[in-house]
Amino acid sequence: MGHHARILALTAAVAMGISGAAAASRLRYASDVPKSHQKRLEADFERFREIPAIGEDPLLLSMLEIQSPSTEAISDWILARVKVVTGKDFNTGAPGVTVTLREGVVYPQREELPWGVVKGELEDPLPEPGDQPKTVTVMSNLGGALYLDGKLSGNILGVYVPGIPEPLEILSPRVGLVQIDQGLFTNPEPDRLAARLHRVSTMLHEARHSDGTGKSLGFFHFVCPDGHDYAGQEACDVAQNGPYAIEGRALKLFASTCGARCTKKEKEMLRLEAAEMAGRVFPALPAFSGEGAM
Ligand SMILES: [Zn+2]
Repeated sequence: MGHHARILALTAAVAMGISGAAAASRLRYASDVPKSHQKRLEADFERFREIPAIGEDPLLLSMLEIQSPSTEAISDWILARVKVVTGKDFNTGAPGVTVTLREGVVYPQREELPWGVVKGELEDPLPEPGDQPKTVTVMSNLGGALYLDGKLSGNILGVYVPGIPEPLEILSPRVGLVQIDQGLFTNPEPDRLAARLHRVSTMLHEARHSDGTGKSLGFFHFVCPDGHDYAGQEACDVAQNGPYAIEGRALKLFASTCGARCTKKEKEMLRLEAAEMAGRVFPALPAFSGEGAM
């Protein structure tokens, strides 16, 4: 009996260890996300939360509507907007994946297309707020496009994610359904803090796609103007508080946050990337037909 109890106790401890790790981020993973990727993302949040001081960037904090700067507050901000993670082959257009849960639903501002979405684009395939279509995809937020699809058709959609028995109800872009792709773990030293900070900045970007309403719904990207490195691709923003603005400011802040834990070269890489992201934000673009600030 004593032995038996000890074995049970050990089993419980092991089980708690596993669920404790999952609870660290509260993210739900589809079964098609490799365990090694799940572990790495969990460690990203854990190591990030361990950083005692984030540094100062009042503008970034005001964009995120965070009162006091901390890595915990930033993690929580992400996790309120990124909730379910799928693998790279997940396809919302595959048979039986996206279903209609309720028909004839009245959405607010039903006819209103968000900025960055052109009417003709709405036929199959749906534009996704996904990034860099002609380069390696890092991560995409699928929730915004699915919500828009439901809104325009007047239906509540549901999505079957591998390993999760009940369909995710797409009741708002905040469903937080994101897809990780091959580009997310290409860093040759993926466990360095610099690599983790880089992935956290990517998650901040994707999290922003879960925000917005009406014209700013999903913070869809615009086609970059002629002469830009990404000319012709939907890889630019007009929103001054959109995904690229947030990602750029976060990368710049993280370069100083990292301090002695990053090498000079790593910090330089974070700053270069920050400048690249900032260079995707424009006060206005030819395709932009809105007025006022977003
Ligand atoms: Zn994006």
